[in-house]
Amino acid sequence: MSTEENGFETNEPAAMVNNASVEQINQHGDNAAKAGDYVEAADWYQKSAEKGNAYGQVKLGRLFEYGDGVPQNIEKAVSLYRKAAEQGDVDGQYSLGNMYFGGTGVTEDYVEAAKWFREAAMNGNEDAQAILGLLYENGIGVSKSYTDAVEWYRKAAEQGNASGQFCLGALYEDGRGDISQDYQEAIKWYLKAAEQDHPKAQIRLGELYSDGEGIPLDYVEAIKWYRKAADQNVPQALVLLGLFYREGVGVSQDYSEAAKLYRKAAEQGDAEGQFALGEFLKQGKGLRQDYTEAIMWYRRAVEQDHEGAQESLNELCRVYKLCKYCGGSMSGLFAKKCTSCGRTAD
Ligand SMILES: [Zn+2]
Repeated sequence: MSTEENGFETNEPAAMVNNASVEQINQHGDNAAKAGDYVEAADWYQKSAEKGNAYGQVKLGRLFEYGDGVPQNIEKAVSLYRKAAEQGDVDGQYSLGNMYFGGTGVTEDYVEAAKWFREAAMNGNEDAQAILGLLYENGIGVSKSYTDAVEWYRKAAEQGNASGQFCLGALYEDGRGDISQDYQEAIKWYLKAAEQDHPKAQIRLGELYSDGEGIPLDYVEAIKWYRKAADQNVPQALVLLGLFYREGVGVSQDYSEAAKLYRKAAEQGDAEGQFALGEFLKQGKGLRQDYTEAIMWYRRAVEQDHEGAQESLNELCRVYKLCKYCGGSMSGLFAKKCTSCGRTAD
């Protein structure tokens, strides 16, 4: 391609950049970014952005947004996204929508966010389509409309967007407004999202299978989906899968496996996992009985207002005269004072 065709004057100063097409400049920027040299990448994208190229504007905006190769400058990022967006660039539109939605570098404005997500969505951006669906479902920045929500979720879902698939499934499962409840449609979309490792879809499928809700009851299928989410270390799935091992439903009873799953959830701060692990430690199920550790986990769950843990903690400490703060033994006839930490029982 000659320089004339690109609209650049050949008699400009002989610097290579002036003769390079903006596509070549962007290519240099991409190569530098790929090699991890963000300073050089910023240099190239700057040149491209100065020529008014939308791709360069968005790429440079991204570097300013995250402070890669340039000092972080969120306002500058917004301004670059806006320049690209106003040229009809889909990535610029989606990025600008995100900035308005999060109030990042610009005053939070859901109406403006919805406007730019819509532009990007109409230009085929699947993430924007899924978010626009969410805005319609919840009436954020737009008038609430389940019909519009389904329309945009479906566009995203049909492009293979896992969030769009999950949200579409959930809307059909609930059935809202003009959208009638339809388990077949719900499960169809949950499956597509679940197969893409969308953990919420995997858990919801597991729940539908384990309750036989809208689908024949099937514990083996339920376990299969819980396990996929548990493999991603999702606390809720770890606890649910633990329940199947504890009860020996659809799988051989295995307290030790249940305890391991509970511990993984508990260590991530999940109150249900902490409570369940506390129960196992109290009973010596699947691991060695340890009241002190049980008390520790109960306490963590209680900090999250877990009522079952509060009851178990009180009972364990009352029956065995243990301190509910440190697990030490309470001294005296009425067991009012801890021999380890010195705190008094209330
Ligand atoms: Zn104590």
